[in-house]
Amino acid sequence: MSIEENLEKLRKSIPEGVTLVAVSKTKPVESIKEAHRIGQRDFGENKVQELQHKYPELPDDIRWHMIGHLQTNKVKYIAPFIHMIHAVDSFKLLKEINKQAKKHNRTINVLFQFHIALEDSKFGFKYSEFEKELMETNLNNFENIAIKGVMGMATFTNNTTIVNNEFRTLKEIFNKLKSKHFTTSEFEYKSMGMSQDYLQAIDQGSNMVRIGSTIFGERT
Ligand SMILES: *Cc1c(COP(=O)(O)O)cnc(C)c1O
Repeated sequence: MSIEENLEKLRKSIPEGVTLVAVSKTKPVESIKEAHRIGQRDFGENKVQELQHKYPELPDDIRWHMIGHLQTNKVKYIAPFIHMIHAVDSFKLLKEINKQAKKHNRTINVLFQFHIALEDSKFGFKYSEFEKELMETNLNNFENIAIKGVMGMATFTNNTTIVNNEFRTLKEIFNKLKSKHFTTSEFEYKSMGMSQDYLQAIDQGSNMVRIGSTIFGERT
């Protein structure tokens, strides 16, 4: 099937109100153009260098999402154009994003990444650590950042109970933060769900899914 067909089929399974981020990492610019032609505007990449290379080749109305781990010293390369950074996992990184956004006179949207999976290798905050750091931070100093919600990745497993529990955990973290710390309407996104688990994620309250291989085919 073509990218258009994959995307159209996928859209039918995603309810209104759920933002689809098309994950185009490792895929050529031509594939992104194909998806763009039928109205896709949100694209996700996980490498700074790849983003830097693709950005100038593609239409200006694309909203670029950085979904991968981001090193502090690389923020400056994407700050001029990035729409949203999903994997903010330290306040040091948050500070740097604010600084670079300010330089370019922009606001950058961010999500806090939480560690919800069993695997050690995945990045992200633990809730207790996050809250502690948050209390020590004056968010009013971050004028060039819009805190839009949370992001998480479930364990890579066929065990749906585990995956459901992890997504539920992220939803609960979101709700707690929303009621205690981020009460404005701008705090609205739960970015969770990939090709293999997005339907479960949506069932558990996801309103932003990051889907790659279902649209663009398997990566090699
Ligand atoms: C690659 C990636 C995705 C998309 O994965 P697929 O299985 O291709 O849908 C989603 N989120 C993150 C953080 C990724 O790195």
